[in-house]
Amino acid sequence: MSASLNLPRWYDLHTHFRQGANVASYIADHLAMGCAGALAMPNTQPPVALVNGPETDTAWSIESYRNILLNAGADAFDQLIIPLYLTKDTTPEMIDQGAESGLLKACKYYPPHGTTNSEHGVPMDYWIGGDVFRALEVNHIVLCIHGEEHGLFGSDYFDENQTAESVFYSDRLPRILDEHAELRIVCEHITTRVAAEFVSNATERVAATITPQHLLYTVGHLIQGLRYHLYCLPVVKFEQDLAALRKAVTTPGQTQFFAGTDSAPHTTKATECGCAAGCYTGGCAPQLYAMAFEEAGVDLESEDGKALFERFLCTNGPAFYGFSPSEKLFELRREPSQVETLQRDEGPLVPLPVGMERELTWTLTQD
Ligand SMILES: [Zn+2]
Repeated sequence: MSASLNLPRWYDLHTHFRQGANVASYIADHLAMGCAGALAMPNTQPPVALVNGPETDTAWSIESYRNILLNAGADAFDQLIIPLYLTKDTTPEMIDQGAESGLLKACKYYPPHGTTNSEHGVPMDYWIGGDVFRALEVNHIVLCIHGEEHGLFGSDYFDENQTAESVFYSDRLPRILDEHAELRIVCEHITTRVAAEFVSNATERVAATITPQHLLYTVGHLIQGLRYHLYCLPVVKFEQDLAALRKAVTTPGQTQFFAGTDSAPHTTKATECGCAAGCYTGGCAPQLYAMAFEEAGVDLESEDGKALFERFLCTNGPAFYGFSPSEKLFELRREPSQVETLQRDEGPLVPLPVGMERELTWTLTQD
């Protein structure tokens, strides 16, 4: 009989449901992969940059975007967190009021022009030591950080010695921790040894999400044949980085690393002069994570191996955000399964392993 893992339904604490006609299909893909809840990122157009009230020309509120997602099927989740997009218009009063209303659980920092729809981001120096971060500390609101230094080019942006991410975690994050002793931080979609070691060495108020692709692939996989369905930001890195990420998630008893797929649907991936950043892993993320843990040497059929995987996928994230793990289960069975290109109203959507010509070694089922 093939191996089978029964796990609590898991939480994707970094994903993108976007907006428009296909939102319901993206949420359905998440529900179909045993997902009990999600943190849905606010880099929509316009951004989710207010807490309460109706949508305006320049912003959605958490309340109005949340209603869109709930009406599109997200009411089936046990948890739905929408962080506030930090912009030049964010005020400490918004943080206080949002916390009081219960709608605000997290805020998201984007480096200006660092990734899809991040043009409203304000550089990190503006925030460090300021009243908005102080309000986050006082109100126990989580700060989700896209940790890449903005405005770097060429070899400063990416080479074997330095990347925008390694600069950010060497220079900015230590300053944030020094200035804001109570701030709770999630380092989103970390990709480098520098970031993994920074988080491991920090206290438990600092955590990190890691995507399936960053636990499976390196830059060699991306550029050989220019497999652009693997192109996301921060971009996949080098072997030593992959090894450090795997070590972080497979350290017994670890509490700081948890699942956040950064799944991002793009029905048009290659553009006229570039490529949209984001990998779609809706429908197949737990299978990909299981494959990554096995490649890291974890025996998922052992008690200890299963416990490691469950920590990362199902329990560490809820513990950090302060809610209970799911009591419902889903099943992963060691049995090959295929992922197909999805046909959506706005065009074809290619889930990551299709782009990588790779079949899944696990099959997922749930009641
Ligand atoms: Zn993201």
